[in-house]
Amino acid sequence: MELHIGCIPGDGIGPEIVKEAKKVLDKVAVRFGHTIQYTEILLGGASIDVHGVPLTMEAVDAAKKSDAVLMGSIGGDANTSPWYKLPPQKRPEAGLLAIRKELGLFANLRPAVLYEELAEACPLKEEISRAGFDMMIMRELTGGLYFGERRTTVENGVRTAVDTLTYNEKEIRRIAVKAFDIAMKRRKKVTSVDKANVLDSSRLWRDVVNEVAKDYPQVALSHMLVDNCAMQLVKDPAQFDVILTENMFGDILSDEASMVTGSIGMLASASLNDTSFGLYEPSHGSAPDIAGMDIANPIATVLSASMMLRYSFNLTSEADAVDKAVKQVLKSGYRTSDIMSADCKKAGCRQVTCSEMGTLLADRI
Ligand code: NAD
Repeated sequence: MELHIGCIPGDGIGPEIVKEAKKVLDKVAVRFGHTIQYTEILLGGASIDVHGVPLTMEAVDAAKKSDAVLMGSIGGDANTSPWYKLPPQKRPEAGLLAIRKELGLFANLRPAVLYEELAEACPLKEEISRAGFDMMIMRELTGGLYFGERRTTVENGVRTAVDTLTYNEKEIRRIAVKAFDIAMKRRKKVTSVDKANVLDSSRLWRDVVNEVAKDYPQVALSHMLVDNCAMQLVKDPAQFDVILTENMFGDILSDEASMVTGSIGMLASASLNDTSFGLYEPSHGSAPDIAGMDIANPIATVLSASMMLRYSFNLTSEADAVDKAVKQVLKSGYRTSDIMSADCKKAGCRQVTCSEMGTLLADRI
């Protein structure tokens, strides 16, 4: 198969971690008989330095022509980088928001996996973390409260602010379909999270999700109120497979779910549109404090590349090989500095650089 991958190294540690993810992808291509064509795309600070703006139409076109895009991260240190002396619409982050909009990315996917070898980084009690967990949070990204009408008024000297939460059935249906499709590639379980005891938008959400579920008889669907879900994520995270939810609930729950893994350098993510196209990137930022030092953890980017193989290219065995390589490397005791603990060091774990980690992973494909 020929894979056309847009590549956005970006800023800070971005180029270092993308280089390692490409090392792993190239090994996948050799091992499974594929060819990969990369198109490098400038975004964020890297684009400002060359073009004076964080995103150009050429960059958008290049992304649209690709089957999928792999991104590092964008942005710099807001206190020291000259990019942050520019007006807000010309700063690195504006480029990221604009490209997401141009590509019509409405579904955000964030896996939260607790690896046995990193269980001690999990802030939950041992009896909870011992069971491990592996869930996928699917968040609606372009509707709801963050995109509704809003206003602030003053009447008789009293300030009042209004935000509106609107969803139509088409917006709900398209993300529900994505969630069920992804559940079919996992443990076939969807928990749809809403606040249907209070909100009309949630009652519509629940109705439409129930309708979509009829096309997926093999998937077990349950509904959960968002307040209960926030509790269950710390009480019994192992119960979840795919969590499907609207924009604001997903914003909060996906951060909560990521943080219970305890390891920022391990968190992948993807944003999808209504084709097989996706933008794949680690959940963390550009870490300017460690940029250029070859100590960043490339695993979140490598796992994002694995999601790309699975969800944009439907290459399940290839994605499984990447995920397995990550588990094997951790099991063999290799750690970048962010995931190295005192206990692991005592037990003989070896600290490796970003590029060494990439090589170790590629060697295990
Ligand atoms: P950050 O995620 O970049 O860093 C937070 C901390 O985690 C830092 O100490 C950093 O060294 C560490 N860290 C992050 N990723 C790591 C990795 N792979 N390996 C080892 N350590 C890692 O968050 P921040 O410092 O708040 O933001 C820095 C810049 O990143 C800002 O300009 C911000 O706007 C940008 N940002 C970009 C994205 C994106 O591109 N999607 C997301 C979040 C933040």
